[in-house]
Amino acid sequence: MKILIVEDQARVGRFVEKALAERSYAARVAGSCAAARDALAESPYDVIVLDAGLPDGDGFDLLREWRADGSDTPVLILSARDAVEDRIRGLDLGADDYLSKPFSIDELVARVRSLLRRQSAGRTTVLTHGPIRVDLVSHTVTCEGQRIDLTNREFALLELFLQNPSRLLTRTFIAERVWDASYDLETNLIDVYIRRLRRKLRMPPERPLIRTVRGSGYQLA
Ligand code: CA
Repeated sequence: MKILIVEDQARVGRFVEKALAERSYAARVAGSCAAARDALAESPYDVIVLDAGLPDGDGFDLLREWRADGSDTPVLILSARDAVEDRIRGLDLGADDYLSKPFSIDELVARVRSLLRRQSAGRTTVLTHGPIRVDLVSHTVTCEGQRIDLTNREFALLELFLQNPSRLLTRTFIAERVWDASYDLETNLIDVYIRRLRRKLRMPPERPLIRTVRGSGYQLA
């Protein structure tokens, strides 16, 4: 589950990003309308937290643009303007929720979670493989019912394998999906993460969760 935070106040953006990351959501901050457009052109998001006042435009205009393009990604408007007209305007333009600044971070996280739940209704939100269960909404992983703590990157890696159960995943494919495309393929970072994932999931060596396909990549076993 990926969340885009459109916020020009770097401090607020980082604060929200950190709070969401602590709950294992993959969050990214865009500081302007232009950066938000770029981020969305690059990859889809499950929820957008949108600041109304941005340096190069208005959050409301971005929202209008997205809805006109047919995007139905849930949007939570975060605004210092708490006038009733602004709330109504935001909701009329297709926002799903509205929170005024200053806000409680716990409330923001709860509202994002609620939007994620709504967004995922009817979609597969739990992936399973043998004893492993990955809940994409609550961002939790269990193995034989035991909670496993994974970092965001480890979670994304495991999710990628479970989304592609019968496919051989090359290092390039994994690097593009889990790391930035700029990731240096010369390093053995992916191998390090696969080893870490195997260790955390405590799969017995004779029953590895992820099989190494020499010279090609990895595949879910
Ligand atoms: Ca602002």
